[in-house]
Amino acid sequence: MKLPYAEPYRIKMIEEIRQSTPEDRAKWLKDADFNLFNLKSSQVFIDLLTDSGTGSMSDRQWSALMTGDESYAGSRSFQELQETVQRITGFRFLLPTHQGRAAENVLFSVLVKDGDVIPGNSHFDTTKGHIEMRKAHAVDCTIDEAFDIENMHPFKGNIDLEKLENVYQQYPKEQVPFCLITVTCNTSGGQPVSLENIKAVKELSDRYGIPVYFDSARYAENAYFIKKREAGQEHRTIKEICKEMFSYGDGMTMSSKKDGLVNIGGFVALNNEEVFRQASNITIIYEGFITYGGLAGRDMAALAVGLDEATEFDYLESRISQVEYLGAKLMEFGIPVQKPIGGHAVFVDALKFLPNVPREEYPAQTLGLELYKEAGIRGVEIGTLLADRDPETRENRYPKLELLRLAIPRRTYTNNHMDYIAAGLKNVYDRRNEITKGYKITWEPPLLRHFTVKLEEA
Ligand SMILES: *Cc1c(COP(=O)(O)O)cnc(C)c1O
Repeated sequence: MKLPYAEPYRIKMIEEIRQSTPEDRAKWLKDADFNLFNLKSSQVFIDLLTDSGTGSMSDRQWSALMTGDESYAGSRSFQELQETVQRITGFRFLLPTHQGRAAENVLFSVLVKDGDVIPGNSHFDTTKGHIEMRKAHAVDCTIDEAFDIENMHPFKGNIDLEKLENVYQQYPKEQVPFCLITVTCNTSGGQPVSLENIKAVKELSDRYGIPVYFDSARYAENAYFIKKREAGQEHRTIKEICKEMFSYGDGMTMSSKKDGLVNIGGFVALNNEEVFRQASNITIIYEGFITYGGLAGRDMAALAVGLDEATEFDYLESRISQVEYLGAKLMEFGIPVQKPIGGHAVFVDALKFLPNVPREEYPAQTLGLELYKEAGIRGVEIGTLLADRDPETRENRYPKLELLRLAIPRRTYTNNHMDYIAAGLKNVYDRRNEITKGYKITWEPPLLRHFTVKLEEA
């Protein structure tokens, strides 16, 4: 018998989570203006809002915390982190930041200006926010296969080279500061980008003299998929694949809350000394001195260990197998999910799940609220609320997909929890025809509305 995967760790410490009643949850939702971001964590049994900074650290990481060097300048923990980042990514310069969006702020302050165009695969929400805040535009060049949830393309995060070249031809070089490759591509369903595609993007961009940067929050998961799915890659180590991946870029922004296996942190890593010099000034203004960038020395020490652990095959195998386990359960129940199952989350197709809820009443948000009412599970809407309004027309932007994302924190829940989640969603699925009404907005902010939007029943 083939032995199944099993976690390459055992549990040394536990944290209590609590069940609640449907009556409790109905009341809490109302108090939260039907925005799941407004719930208290104590009101949630299984929290799948995000896999960002919500995972568990290892005993080695907790030990590393004690070795943190809190020197303002030139801390030993910074050096450990820099050595690790250089070894894994090959990038020469490192600027720590307090999280991923801060890395975006630092890098984009240097590179992005009014009227610029930044092509790439589907940009992450804060990334798009940082681009649009600067009156620049993000152009989504993801392959069309990504928007068909049944399409089994192994690399649905890939960039369509024709779409990319169109951008390069349409705009002068001065207006395209870089191409941004997000690995894995969260917005299209945690879908990976192939090494071949990354290489081709690099070659095309070189021809037009345009730099390539990575939005690399889940780069290790991306490397895992390359190893598993791309011809000729199966015998390489994750670290070898990562190194090659990054060799096709000029730099990266990182949210360490994902594949850094820590609860807070981020960084920019890059090769261009002039960009580094300018980005250092921005870091000093917004984050802190360049050898800590808003992080404690102990945070950097734990991150250095986390980056190494996250690029080990056994860890990635158990992590991604768990996400697949949940996806397979849902498929067994006939629930429409994005296929193939992505690296960090299962994405449920709300348009297919709740066909009776009008598009203007936010079906994916509605599904998220139903799942919470049913079982105390908190997912997150990746749909019209997230897509926000067009900055010029102020009309709702309706994305091609309306998804409920169930993000799985790293090394945190067991497969019993996965079974519970699947059962909760199946119960909602069984009564899907009775769900005909969604929600309407009563208040929203001008930017990144999904975090603070207020809703009421339509
Ligand atoms: C999380 C994430 C970010 C932003 O990082 P934060 O640490 O949440 O600020 C940017 N890009 C991608 C792809 C991400 O997943």
